[in-house]
Amino acid sequence: MERLKQILQRIDGKGYKAYRDIAGSYAGDGFVLHIDHVQADPFAAPSRIRVAFGGKEAAADPEWLHTRCRRIAVEDFFARSIADSIRRHGVRPVGHGKSGMIAVDRPGQEVLPRTAVKVEEHGIEVRLSVGLPAAGRTVLGKEAARMLCESVPAILRQALFRYDRTRLRAHWELADQQEAIRAFLQARGYAAFVANGSVLPRESGISDRPMQGREAVPFRSPASLEVEIPLPHREPIRGMAIRNGVTLIVGGGYHGKSTLLKAIERGVYNHIPGDGREYVITDDSACKIRAEDGRRVEKVNISPFISNLPFGKDTRRFSTEDASGSTSQAANIMEALEMGTKLLLIDEDTSATNFMIRDARMQALVAKRKEPITPFVDKVRKLYEQHRVSTILVLGGSGDYFHAADTVLMLDEYEPVDVTEEAKRIARRLDDGRKPEGGDSFGDVTPRVVLPGSFDATRGKREKADAKGLSKIVYGTHEIALDLVEQLVDPSQTRAIACMLTALAKTYADGRTTLREMVDRLYAAVGEQGLEAVSPYDGHPGDLALPRKYELAAALNRLRTLNVKG
Ligand code: ADP
Ligand code: MG
Repeated sequence: MERLKQILQRIDGKGYKAYRDIAGSYAGDGFVLHIDHVQADPFAAPSRIRVAFGGKEAAADPEWLHTRCRRIAVEDFFARSIADSIRRHGVRPVGHGKSGMIAVDRPGQEVLPRTAVKVEEHGIEVRLSVGLPAAGRTVLGKEAARMLCESVPAILRQALFRYDRTRLRAHWELADQQEAIRAFLQARGYAAFVANGSVLPRESGISDRPMQGREAVPFRSPASLEVEIPLPHREPIRGMAIRNGVTLIVGGGYHGKSTLLKAIERGVYNHIPGDGREYVITDDSACKIRAEDGRRVEKVNISPFISNLPFGKDTRRFSTEDASGSTSQAANIMEALEMGTKLLLIDEDTSATNFMIRDARMQALVAKRKEPITPFVDKVRKLYEQHRVSTILVLGGSGDYFHAADTVLMLDEYEPVDVTEEAKRIARRLDDGRKPEGGDSFGDVTPRVVLPGSFDATRGKREKADAKGLSKIVYGTHEIALDLVEQLVDPSQTRAIACMLTALAKTYADGRTTLREMVDRLYAAVGEQGLEAVSPYDGHPGDLALPRKYELAAALNRLRTLNVKG
């Protein structure tokens, strides 16, 4: 570190480019500082550093490393701890541009595998972004020395060695419990679990934090759907388990249907203690499906739902630059099936009506041969029986699904009631008069082969694949819009998707491999080498969080240059 101080002293007052000289590794007291990437100017993307602590103090508690999910939880805990420590330290800008900033990739309500902190048997490595201080474009060497040699080590020591041990233990014990619930659901044929006492509503439409105070009605399972699950580190937990099959969530407007579905949709991820949804666990292959008119679709077989389009347009290899509500929803389902989902989640609020239902009167008025759409109501049962793909559906506006459902759940002032028997009785008594459509079989899910070169990130002489916030990726000369990909939850996942797309383009797309195999292979590599493997910053793992395969595929499917064989 003395050497670093000397360099900083020497370049003090020089042009910003002189900062290049500090790239390299420096040994400090109990740690090594690696300056991997030095920003080109004070306004450019910040510099990237790593700090690796070793020695007895930094050795991992062997318990932390027992399972993958524990390690992820412990790394997540330290990332939060570092973010808190940075805030408490009162880090302030000291010059122009990003001068003086110190940042770690701070997690949100979900616990995701991320590259911010790496816990290993013999030490902990932290990955940070820093803004090297400048006045105008002049190096502020003294400020840089204070930041790198004093603030950063002090902040990290505080976060890594003086944390609340009880809270860390609670953090990974919860991860064990969440994993136990997932295993229970899988073994017993359940799609989702919502524990009694869970707080599902959020603080506001723009906040992911739990609703506070007495107005939040805690979840309570109907007796008929209640199960008890034995958990490690605590007494067994009770709550509502939704069986595989077709489940309807009905009830009056504003009674909490969408809120329940939203919580289930997020249950593919683990949440932090105190989130309110930490014991809401869903089959982690679940895909939220919605209408998304305007999206591009590339040669997707949507024929299970749509055929006989005007002018004989092919629906076995359906492409469009501008999908309608129903065709986009059909494509979203077929793409999710192509990736191997076992659970679809659908909300009437964000569905195309003509995709969901077509009642007897409309069947009488518009002849089947004039209607390209076979509504989901005619397919939902076959999807389960023939492909073992379950559906959880929010539907307050039509009883036409009663006969197709295994379970009907009614929300009454946020309280779920099992109304399955009653719904079945009503379905028998009041015939819907519909003629079933769409034949006896669900239809085929057709794998697609992506052509290499169809998602090339070059832009001029350079390669460009950058995330802009949560929902946008600039890829080559195009933009990918992910606003309606609802299970993408963290901007660091979006950053990872940008990197993973270039990895797919470069290494995995060979013109023979199917989209799903290609994504599976990439995830296998990431499973072995970590997300670091896809980071574009030499030697620095970046600020990435692992997305699910489904969201990566969703990004690829929305890329306007994507080209599929055939
Ligand atoms: P629906 O889909 O049935 O029309 P929503 O799920 O959109 O209803 O919920 C309506 C409102 O009620 C939202 O503002 C939501 O935050 C709130 N809400 C939902 N569940 C609860 C609950 N358990 N306790 C308190 N408020 C809730
Ligand atoms: Mg709703």
